[in-house]
Amino acid sequence: MSDWECVIGLEIHVQLLTKSKIFSASSTAYGKEPNKQASYVDLGMPGTLPVLNNIVIKKAVEFGLAINANITNRSIFARKNYFYPDLPKNYQISQLDFPIVEGGYIEIEDDCGNNKKINITRAHLEEDAGKSIHSDENNCTYIDLNRAGTPLLEIVSEPEMKSATEAVSYMKKIHNIVTYLEISDGNMQEGSFRCDANVSIRKSGEKKLGTRTELKNINSFKFVEKAINYEIQRQIDLLEDGKKIKQETRLYDENKNITKSMRSKEEANDYRYFPDPDLLPIEIDNEYILKIKKLMPDLPDVKSKFYKSKYDLTDEQINIILSNKEITNFADKILLLSKISAKRLINHFISSVYLKFNKENSLALEDLIKPNDFYLIIDSIEKKVISKINLKEILDKIWGENINISSVIENYSSRNENNLDMIDDLIKKIIEKNEKQVKEYKSGKTKIVGFFVGQVLKDAKGSDPSVIKDKIISYLDLI
Ligand code: ADP
Ligand code: MG
Repeated sequence: MSDWECVIGLEIHVQLLTKSKIFSASSTAYGKEPNKQASYVDLGMPGTLPVLNNIVIKKAVEFGLAINANITNRSIFARKNYFYPDLPKNYQISQLDFPIVEGGYIEIEDDCGNNKKINITRAHLEEDAGKSIHSDENNCTYIDLNRAGTPLLEIVSEPEMKSATEAVSYMKKIHNIVTYLEISDGNMQEGSFRCDANVSIRKSGEKKLGTRTELKNINSFKFVEKAINYEIQRQIDLLEDGKKIKQETRLYDENKNITKSMRSKEEANDYRYFPDPDLLPIEIDNEYILKIKKLMPDLPDVKSKFYKSKYDLTDEQINIILSNKEITNFADKILLLSKISAKRLINHFISSVYLKFNKENSLALEDLIKPNDFYLIIDSIEKKVISKINLKEILDKIWGENINISSVIENYSSRNENNLDMIDDLIKKIIEKNEKQVKEYKSGKTKIVGFFVGQVLKDAKGSDPSVIKDKIISYLDLI
């Protein structure tokens, strides 16, 4: 590899989170009965006219603002002509010369851990095609046109990534932005976020780009990485054998971990693009852009810096908090309420609410537990009114229920008081019974405390070992 360097540019297709299609009123819902959600408009039937769903403009503008791009004041839809079984209307409505978003960049960490800017060429609006479903069993291909007309934002990067890991970091950053801003649900299994990776290699130091191949429609971070690495090696082997790279579209086979030729690559002029005569240009004034800018939340990158400087949270904690907007909002609220160290608070949060929510998140987080209730529970734990080991049980009890938290805490606290009296008695008995171990402790072998804790726990199952340990030490030190 040392003689060679690879160059990668990504085209990411993001399905926009809208109820209806980009040019029609039919539903975008996933997984419904095949061919029930494509209207005459989606199929381009003669006599129908597309009408733009204006939510897609807002989402594209939000994305453009998030990557510091230029939002164009006038963008134009064009027809990209080609026939494919999943595109029976013969053309896809897209944007070519006048996309809605131009330029912009995001920052990733390169393979040496340094900040690296990846420039974005453009992001344009277009419609998704239908879906071909190949059946080996029945030896045929089914066509499901439900997806036809689902709004897409295609985000095209400059060829500036130098490894599969850089490409994955870039993809994750974009995924993070579009899900955080709720531009897309980002569901990769359902195809809401998928990527074409363009890969070429050249001799290190060479300026001219090599011939690229395009790896089509990969919908997982892991497969993008594997497919690119496979492709780099395949190209190196070809060139080192004195052969040439063919400019073509290839498919990644995840079972065999190889890429296979799919078709030779069309050039733009093969598509005979022309402005769509049925659609007006999108005109956006600066006032509209400013209005959207004002309503946009802080982006994950900005928040990440804030969590670090204001609360000194770890990278791991920050990544978890920023993994989902509901989690972020919840964390922000408890951070504002709490007086204990933010690191401790977030640890409590991650080990309890976050894990539980991730396992069974069918409802909105704040319908399951109120930030203020969580804060009161943690506060009581910190003040030793209740024990940390009660946390799980308390959460199970109040999860999704409308229960007064103060009475729950009171209940546990009086239970703990009774329990503590019992533990005091137990400790006294065990210390009396085990003179030899007491002597060892007194001679400096403080590790023996663990033995006492174990003995007490036998009869006080479910109690908090750290409370017991503290008590034992104070008893032993009194003797
Ligand atoms: P198309 O839409 O036909 O695939 P584009 O010119 O829009 O072609 O380029 C698509 C992507 O390919 C861009 O992300 C670009 O950065 C990338 N790309 C172009 N040339 C190369 C190359 N030689 N090596 C790697 N990536 C490339
Ligand atoms: Mg392409």
